[in-house]
Amino acid sequence: MHNPQGFATRAIHAGYEPNKENGAVNVPIYASSTFAQDGVGGLRGGYEYARTGNPTRKALEDNLAALENAAYGRAFSSGMAATDALLRATLRPGDHLVIPNDAYGGTFRLIDKVFSQWGIEYSVAPVTDPAAIRDAIRPNTKLVWIETPTNPLLNIGDIAAIAEVAHAAGVKLVVDNTFASPYLQQPITLGADVVLHSTTKYIGGHSDTVGGALLTNDEQLDADIAFLQNGSGGVPGPFDVFLTLRGIKTLAVRMDRHSDNAEKVIDFLSTHPKIEKILYPGLDGHPGHDAAARQMKRFGGMVSVLVAGGREAAEQFCAGTQLFTLAESLGGIESLIELPAAMTHASTAGSLLEVPDNLVRLSVGIEDSTDLIGDLENALR
Ligand SMILES: *Cc1c(COP(=O)(O)O)cnc(C)c1O
Repeated sequence: MHNPQGFATRAIHAGYEPNKENGAVNVPIYASSTFAQDGVGGLRGGYEYARTGNPTRKALEDNLAALENAAYGRAFSSGMAATDALLRATLRPGDHLVIPNDAYGGTFRLIDKVFSQWGIEYSVAPVTDPAAIRDAIRPNTKLVWIETPTNPLLNIGDIAAIAEVAHAAGVKLVVDNTFASPYLQQPITLGADVVLHSTTKYIGGHSDTVGGALLTNDEQLDADIAFLQNGSGGVPGPFDVFLTLRGIKTLAVRMDRHSDNAEKVIDFLSTHPKIEKILYPGLDGHPGHDAAARQMKRFGGMVSVLVAGGREAAEQFCAGTQLFTLAESLGGIESLIELPAAMTHASTAGSLLEVPDNLVRLSVGIEDSTDLIGDLENALR
């Protein structure tokens, strides 16, 4: 779906118009689990029961669809609930999917520990290599699943090239767009069949609510997702949805500030003797820089670094910051720091998806950049 309005305008207006009766400019929090009917089956606004549909949730779903240039949107209670619904909507026992070798830890765990028990097979391929993804596709492959930039290594997958490889084999492409957010990158426009979000991160943007979403132009796929959204019931409540919608209104300005601050933090870190390497797709020397520059508006607020001195030095760095809070998650206005090998990606230890133990991941927030740099400088001292 092409939407003629600019991104920031859609972020603020799409999915809801001021209430016709009272003019409320924001969608009400419809804290109602059920909806009165005018005679049996006489629904007033299409709503009957809030697991199936709720007007607050509908506003979020329509808004996110507009941001991703998708015809259909479905909101879930978490990114993992959305992941679970999408896997069940698209895979049957005996089917196979291809996942990146540095997938989000929770995605990997769900596929490796849960879906494997139901006869779903997977192969791992580097997201950076469309030919390797093509080679990993088998006759029973139904999905290619990618993230870009990846978490936590910030590798880049060329979405258009991978869509071509997947479609040539009759396979659907899923892009987890959590790290970029729709402001920086719109995968459906580049050929993806479905976009997944953990709205917990940049979309909500304030570390105050957990949620997920699936966006697609594929009517049948949306119907299958909607069936599971209602049938399994991993839906968000109206209060969480309201917070997410409130966050989205500032997504454009936040993402620009996250990107500005990340660039300034990198300027500082790039000459620091205790930093071995910076992983950021905005850097010229990054192997995915060209693809990232083609498909992303800017390069976002996530920065990973390899710390000189191994795991111990990396742990000290993480424990030494004050403004950068040591915590899992990402994408909020406040800066966070973490050690993926021990925290978000502990479940990948010993697997093909294991991450370096001196890797530190920064979620650069929107505070004053001089304060952020001062904090990092102290922690590295
Ligand atoms: C956080 C995250 C998820 C999972 O989302 P939740 O909202 O925590 O369930 C999936 N993918 C990526 C890239 C994430 O960062």
